[in-house]
Amino acid sequence: MNENDTEVMAGMLERRGLTRSYDEERADVLIFNTCSIRDHAERKVMGKLGLIGRSKRRNAIIGVTGCMANAKKESLFRKLPHVDFVLGTSNIHELDTVLDQVIAGGQTAIRTDTRFTHELDYIGASRDSKLKTSVSIIRGCDKYCTYCVVPYTRGPEVSRNPDDIVEECRQLIDQGYKELTLLGQNVNSYGNDQKDWGCHFHDLLYRLDKLPGMERIRFMTSHPVDITRELMEAVGSLDSLCEFVHFPLQAGADRVLKKMHRIYTVDEYLEKVATFRELVPNVCLGTDIIVGFPTETDAEFEETYRLMKEIEFSCAFLFEYSPRNGTPAMRWRDDVSEEVKNERLQRLLSLQEEIYAKQRQQMLGTEVEVLVERTTSRDPKYIKGRTRCWKSVVFEGAEDLVGTFQQVKLHGYSHQTLLGDRVASRS
Ligand code: SAH
Ligand code: SF4
Repeated sequence: MNENDTEVMAGMLERRGLTRSYDEERADVLIFNTCSIRDHAERKVMGKLGLIGRSKRRNAIIGVTGCMANAKKESLFRKLPHVDFVLGTSNIHELDTVLDQVIAGGQTAIRTDTRFTHELDYIGASRDSKLKTSVSIIRGCDKYCTYCVVPYTRGPEVSRNPDDIVEECRQLIDQGYKELTLLGQNVNSYGNDQKDWGCHFHDLLYRLDKLPGMERIRFMTSHPVDITRELMEAVGSLDSLCEFVHFPLQAGADRVLKKMHRIYTVDEYLEKVATFRELVPNVCLGTDIIVGFPTETDAEFEETYRLMKEIEFSCAFLFEYSPRNGTPAMRWRDDVSEEVKNERLQRLLSLQEEIYAKQRQQMLGTEVEVLVERTTSRDPKYIKGRTRCWKSVVFEGAEDLVGTFQQVKLHGYSHQTLLGDRVASRS
C-alpha cells in the first residue's frame, strides 16, 4: 500500500515539473513515506531522518508521509526540527497544497485526517514497473486487532467505487500490464461500507476477470473471517485470478487469538483451509504469524508450531511481537522476553524452511506458468519470473521474452529459486 501511495505521489510531483531522483544529495524534495507496523520500521526512518538533519541537506524540503505521520503527528517537528511537512495517509491529495505552503511561507505544514475522504489520482500515478502493478481497492481497517496500529494510522475502511477500479484496470491493461495486485488492508471487506453498491469483493473479481486482456490478478491482504465460499469459488473458477491467497493465521492457540481480537478460532480457521483446499485443490496459502504476543506461553507457541506444520503454508511471514503506541495490547506487559521471542521465531523459520524444501522437491518435474520479468543479474542468457503461486523461477531464455508467459518444466532449485527449462510459450 505504501508503494502504491508513493507512486501516486510521484505522479503528482512529476505533474508539477519535478523529476525523480535516486540521489538524495541532489534532490530538492525528500519524502519519507513511512510504515509504523513494527518498531523496527519506525526506528529505521527516525535514524535516517536524524542523519539527514545533521547533514548539509537542510535546504531540501523534507516531508514525512505515511503511517508515522498519523501516529506521531506534531511530535515529529519537535524531534526533527528540519522536517518541513507531515502528511498523513488520508491527506495524500493535499501534497501540492502543502508543498506550495512550505515553499511560499518557509513554514511547516501538517495534515493528518483520521478518515480517507478524497479519492486519489491513481491513473496519473508514476509506476515503477511496466509489467506488474498494484491497484488500491479499499483503504483502512475496521478489525481492530489488539496489537495492530493500522486502524489508527489508516482510519476506517473506505471502499473505492467499482467503476473507477474497473476503469483503472482497463487502462493498465491497455498500457501493457500483465499482472495486477488488488490492494487493501483487508480486501475481502470490500464493499461492506457501501452496501448500496451491491458489490462484494468476489463480485469485483468477476467483473475484472471479464476485462479483455486481463492476464493475472492477485490480491492482498485478507482477513480469514471475511474469506467467503464465494471468494474461494472465484479463485477456483476465474482464469486470471491466481491460486495464491494470503490467509494470515497470526497465532495457533484460541486463547491468544481471542486476546488478539482475531474473531476466529483455530477450528474455524482450519475448516476454511479444508474447504478452500477441497474447492481449489491447487490453491497455495500464505500466512502471517506473530510470536511472543503478551502472555503467550510455551505451550501456546507449540500450538502455533504444530498448526504451521500441519497446514504447510506455501509462504509465511513471521514476526516477533512489537508493542505499538495507542493499541490495546500496549496496556499489557510485553512479558515474553526478547530471547524467548527470538527463539520462537527461529524455530518457526527453520520449520518453514523444511516445508519450503519439501514443497520444492514435490514441484520437480512439474510444469508451471511463468510471467517473465527480467534477465538475471548474473547471466543475461537466463531470465527470471514468478509462477501464479508467487514462486520465483529462473530458466534459459533471451531478454525479448520479458513480458511473456512461458511454460517451464522444473528440474532443480538454488536456495528459494526454482530452476527449469522452457517447454512452450503461452503468448
Ligand atoms: N490485514 C492483514 C495484515 C496487515 S499488517 C491481516 O489482518 O492479517 C501485516 C502483518 O504485520 C500482520 O499480519 C501481522 O502479522 C504483522 N503485525 C501487525 N502488527 C504487529 C505488531 N504489533 N507486532 C508484530 N507484528 C505485527
Ligand atoms: Fe491490522 Fe490486519 Fe488486524 Fe486490520 S485486520 S487490525 S490491518 S492485522
